[in-house]
Amino acid sequence: MRWTLVLNKHWTPIDIIDVYDAVTDMCRESASGLSPESYQLFSMDQWIERSALRAEEGLLSDEQIIRTPNFPVEKPEIVILNNFYGIPYTEIPLTRRNLIKRDNYTCQYCGRQFSPERLSIDHVHPRSRGGRTTWENCVTSCFRCNAKKGSKLLEQIGYKLASPPGKPTGHSPLLFNLPGKYPPSWKKFIKP
Ligand SMILES: [Zn+2]
Repeated sequence: MRWTLVLNKHWTPIDIIDVYDAVTDMCRESASGLSPESYQLFSMDQWIERSALRAEEGLLSDEQIIRTPNFPVEKPEIVILNNFYGIPYTEIPLTRRNLIKRDNYTCQYCGRQFSPERLSIDHVHPRSRGGRTTWENCVTSCFRCNAKKGSKLLEQIGYKLASPPGKPTGHSPLLFNLPGKYPPSWKKFIKP
């Protein structure tokens, strides 16, 4: 377990953070731990007590525990911010990984799906001709199509894009960054 879901004070999911950062937030009293079973909130002190009890009862696996010199602390699956009501505006960063995800692992020229390591990013309007690195000018391409296209324009080789590329829509940044595996307790708050 590496990640913690962060809810604002209205219990709206707003972020996914490293579990150690979540515990730090709890130590600073800016966040409370949430019990996925009872939906009760716990301050850090209460969370430590709860962790000790649950460890004694054998309810926690090694993977669920942060070992400190004095006591075990259960990794919180969900924390709630104590004083934050808003929803921060976050952009989905333009990265290779996110572009490939936007294009659903599909080469935008031949329409075939590939695993991520067999895909590259192509500048539709070539960089050598002043094409920029933007969501609108970058598409996922297989190696073969990319090599064929090179620094030519689409019209020159008769390529057509299935749809005009743009910023990913239909996903909140939170869902876009959802790890492949996450605790079942998140499902109550996240509706993909
Ligand atoms: Zn292709």
